[in-house]
Amino acid sequence: MKFETLAIHTGEKPDLGPGGTGDVVMPIHLASTYAREKVDIPTAGYEYSRTENPTRDALQERLAALEGAKYALAFASGLAAETSLVLSLLKSGDHIVAADDLYGGTRRLFSRIFNANFGVEVDYVDAQDVANVSRALKSNTRLIWLESPTNPLLKLSDIAAISEITHQRNIIVGVDNTFMSPYFQQPLSLGADIVMHSTTKFLNGHSDSIGGALMLNDSTLYEKLKFTQNAAGGILSPFESYLILRGTKTLAVRMDRHQENAMKIAHYLRSHPKVKHVFYPGLEEHPQYDLAKRQMSGAGGMLSFEIAGNLSQAKKYVEGLEYFALAESLGGVESLIELPAIMTHASVPAEERKRIGISDGLIRLSAGIENVDDLLADLESAFKLI
Ligand SMILES: *Cc1c(COP(=O)(O)O)cnc(C)c1O
Repeated sequence: MKFETLAIHTGEKPDLGPGGTGDVVMPIHLASTYAREKVDIPTAGYEYSRTENPTRDALQERLAALEGAKYALAFASGLAAETSLVLSLLKSGDHIVAADDLYGGTRRLFSRIFNANFGVEVDYVDAQDVANVSRALKSNTRLIWLESPTNPLLKLSDIAAISEITHQRNIIVGVDNTFMSPYFQQPLSLGADIVMHSTTKFLNGHSDSIGGALMLNDSTLYEKLKFTQNAAGGILSPFESYLILRGTKTLAVRMDRHQENAMKIAHYLRSHPKVKHVFYPGLEEHPQYDLAKRQMSGAGGMLSFEIAGNLSQAKKYVEGLEYFALAESLGGVESLIELPAIMTHASVPAEERKRIGISDGLIRLSAGIENVDDLLADLESAFKLI
């Protein structure tokens, strides 16, 4: 089966057997517990919904299929998925090498909880260069955490090359694939060990659910993660599982349109006199355009741009838009816009933001699937305000 077909059929096969009702949509199984006839035989294997739930199982099956993985586990949020990963696979004194231009919440989790409270060491490096990752490895390094493209500057890391150097040392490579979705990039096929998604974004796609997932092939790692999913309890609810199942059905068509709109917006912005720079891996001038072509099958729906102006002009610009909701988050059908320096990345220290290249005039945009002419007209009219 091809991607679009998997996205509609995996995990949602109508039950036509005895007792089945033939629902073409997976029901939302709300029960917290499951009755059994015989004390030692749980009905259909179900005992308690934190441990296993049919709606979450259906979603996990689908998410695994979409990433080309053997296993998937769904959690209450992207950060709950990351928390479970670190709790499962690392201990105090272990070392994480992470890309420096990460989602702000990931950095906060690594630094302010796992480092500050549990003594997990963390180094942040510019992972655009494999040599920087290589140099940062220590004898206690257990995890390399990549986001490619990064948020908000759309920097890439060479997932295959980094996976290559680390596997000789038995280090786990985890990739946050939220920006690309499995439709445009499949890190496991490039050699990564674990893929993470905030399903809140493109996978659900409608800005009405918070969730996260881990996908992987290794059965030993899977057993550890599955143990933690139940033991620590950060599971995804049946209702949210249903929403994401529903969202994934249209992932392919949405991603195509997100990308088409983002590409047109990137071309428009790059020739605008009030724009200093556009960050989008689909533009030939992106410094890692060749790598983008190699490891992604599309450039996605996210881009950032720097206006020729200060913070107050950037504020005026984003507040002056009509169709772009001024909001954090991304990957919904509606276009969103935000200022990383004071919104999504406000938790990153100012000095560090400067070092990474997140200026006050940087604007991050999530291209929705509206008619792009309306979006372009909106962007143009707000430029008249600054
Ligand atoms: C949103 C996001 C997360 C965190 O996910 P939540 O579902 O909000 O917990 C992690 N990484 C990236 C790239 C994100 O965009």
